[in-house]
Amino acid sequence: MANFKTIAKLLKLKGMKVTGLSFHHGGVVRIAVKPFKNGCRCPECGRRGTIVRQRPSFRQWRDLPVGGWSVFLLYAPREVHCPTHGRVEEDIPWSAREARITRRYEYVMLRYCQMMTQKAAAALLRVAPSTLSDQLHRSIARRREGHRIRGLRTLGIDEISYCKGHKYATLVYDLERSVVVWIGRGKGRTTIDEFFDNVLSAYQKAKVQAACCDMSEAYIGAITSHCPGAKLVLDRFHIVKAMNEAVDEVRKEQWRASDLTERKALKGLRWLLYRHSATRTKRDTRTLNALERGNRRIYRAWRLKDEFEQLWEYKAPWAAERFLKRWSTSALRSRLAPMRKFVAMIRRHQPGVLAFVDTRLTNAIGEGLNRIVKIIKNRASGFRDLSPFADMIYLSVGDLDIPAQIPKSFRTV
Ligand SMILES: [Zn+2]
Repeated sequence: MANFKTIAKLLKLKGMKVTGLSFHHGGVVRIAVKPFKNGCRCPECGRRGTIVRQRPSFRQWRDLPVGGWSVFLLYAPREVHCPTHGRVEEDIPWSAREARITRRYEYVMLRYCQMMTQKAAAALLRVAPSTLSDQLHRSIARRREGHRIRGLRTLGIDEISYCKGHKYATLVYDLERSVVVWIGRGKGRTTIDEFFDNVLSAYQKAKVQAACCDMSEAYIGAITSHCPGAKLVLDRFHIVKAMNEAVDEVRKEQWRASDLTERKALKGLRWLLYRHSATRTKRDTRTLNALERGNRRIYRAWRLKDEFEQLWEYKAPWAAERFLKRWSTSALRSRLAPMRKFVAMIRRHQPGVLAFVDTRLTNAIGEGLNRIVKIIKNRASGFRDLSPFADMIYLSVGDLDIPAQIPKSFRTV
C-alpha cells in the first residue's frame, strides 16, 4: 500500500491527502485522509486559523462505493482558533457541516432518488434503505434550511392522501413556475393557516394575484382572509370530479331500483359516463343511444354532464355566465337530486367557477404537478409517514433545486 498518491488520484480524492488504507469485513474500505493545502479553516468565515489541537477520535464519512466496496473516509478533525469565531472545529472540505456523508456521495444520492425509488438507490449505494432515507432527510433539511419562497404570484392549494388514504397533506404550488413550495400535515383550515401565517410575509401575501383551490371551505376561507386581493379560482378538475360524482350518484340510485334484467343493461356504464366527449368512440355513442330508451334518468344526467363540458370552452366571462345560468335552469328541471345539489354548489361558488374563464388557471397546470406527486406516491407504494413523502416531493418538484446546492466540483456521478 505504498502509493497513496495513486489511490488519491484513482478515487479522485481532490483536496485531500491519503495517509492510510485498510480493508474490513463486509466489503468495507476505510481510507485515512487529511485536508490538503486548504485545511485549518474556520467553518463560519473560511479564514485560516491557528491549530489548537487534534481531536483524539476519528470521524468517518461515507463516500461513493467503488468496485463493490463501501468506502469510508477517516479523519480526526483539528480545532482551530479563529480571530472572529474563537475556538471551532476546522471546516471539512469534502463534507457539509455535521454531515456523515461526503458531498459527492450526497450529490449522487440526491440524483438517484430523483430517478428511482429509495430502495433501488440504497442498493446501488450499498446502504440499508432506512439509512438512506435518514441521510436523504438530513440532506434535504440541510439544503432547504433558510430557504425563502420567492416571487409567488399565482398559488394553488391541493390536498393529497397518503398512507393508504388514511392521512392527508396539503400542498401549496407556485402555478407560474410549476413547483411545490410548501407541504403541511392535514387538510383543514389550521394547516393552511400555518402556511399563510408562518411562511408568507404580509408583503408576499399582498403580491398574490390569483389562487386556485377546490371547493373546500377551509381553503377558500383561508385565501379570502389572507389574500383578499387575490382572485379566487376554483380548480376545474375538482368541479368536473364533482359533476362526475353526481352522475354516478344517479346511476347508483337507478341500479339499486332495478331488477336483474334491467341491471344487465346498466352494466359497464360507470366508466362510459365518466368519459370526456373528446375520447368517446362510436360504440360508446351506440350504448348512450340505447340508454336514452332504456333509462331516461341516467341518460338525462349524462346529457347534462355532456353539456356542462362546454363551459370550459368559453373565452368571455359574460358568455360563460349566460351559459351557466341556462344550464343550471335545465339541470334543476331534471328532477334529479344529485344534479340539483351540484347546481346549488356551483351557484354558491359562481365567481370562483367563472374565474377559470379569464385566468385559465388550474392546479394541473404545466407538467401536471399533482400527477407527478401521485407518481412519487405510487412508486414508493405509499408512505407511512409524511416526512419521507415530503422529502421526495421537495426533491422532485420543489421550488429549490436541491442537487444544485452542492458545489459543482462535487457533482460527480
Ligand atoms: Zn471564523
